[in-house]
Amino acid sequence: MKLTVLGNNGPYPAAGSACSGYLLQSGKANVLIDCGNGVLANMQKIIRIDQLDAVILTHLHSDHVSDMFVLKYAIQLRRKRGLYDGLMKVYAPAEPAEEYGRFDVEDAFGLEAITAEKQLVIGDMRFSFRQMKHPYTDYAVSAECAGKRFVYSGDTSWTDELVSFAKGADLLMLDAGFLEKDRPEDAPHMSAAQCGTAAAMAGAKRLLLTHIWPDYDPMDLVDEAAPRFANVEAAAILKEYQV
Ligand SMILES: [Zn+2]
Ligand SMILES: [Zn+2]
Repeated sequence: MKLTVLGNNGPYPAAGSACSGYLLQSGKANVLIDCGNGVLANMQKIIRIDQLDAVILTHLHSDHVSDMFVLKYAIQLRRKRGLYDGLMKVYAPAEPAEEYGRFDVEDAFGLEAITAEKQLVIGDMRFSFRQMKHPYTDYAVSAECAGKRFVYSGDTSWTDELVSFAKGADLLMLDAGFLEKDRPEDAPHMSAAQCGTAAAMAGAKRLLLTHIWPDYDPMDLVDEAAPRFANVEAAAILKEYQV
């Protein structure tokens, strides 16, 4: 699989940047995981909207979903003009119900709820999910293909569920929303140090830090995680990572 980072900021973008969005490609399928502001523009540098097989949303906070509301227009209008068949498959947690209802757009999206039991096969990629710890229900995503495994936390504070879910991941991408010095006790995100610890405990092979606060220098996040897990870097927009 190949992962391309389309947006790496949260909860709002830095100048010229974009919020959470990650394109996962296997050669047989193209799946977008999260669709924050700025993601749709970056995605089309790589594939056309018609080439996207499905969208998976880890949770329904705006920095992970806001471009869905313009993707909706793209699908609706391309259908009207005879340029798009069917509906875009969208998988998302069903809570909060009011937010989930905004994706129930019958002439654009084929919407299905993510649950802990859900297993998806898209092309040759197999997806599974585990609930994390965040103010909005968030599911970490695991994608397996050709004996390799990619795991992405979505947004979460520390939870042992993440460590068990990420066991042995070839590429682990985690929410490093804080430097340890800035992390409140009730933080909804992990620090870079916690990401390093999680990657080490999970026995992951490689760690990517994302959900970068716009004021941070990504290298400071890497420096904080590296003593705990050496094979770490900060997710960079339009950079490709082989899984
Ligand atoms: Zn977020
Ligand atoms: Zn969030």
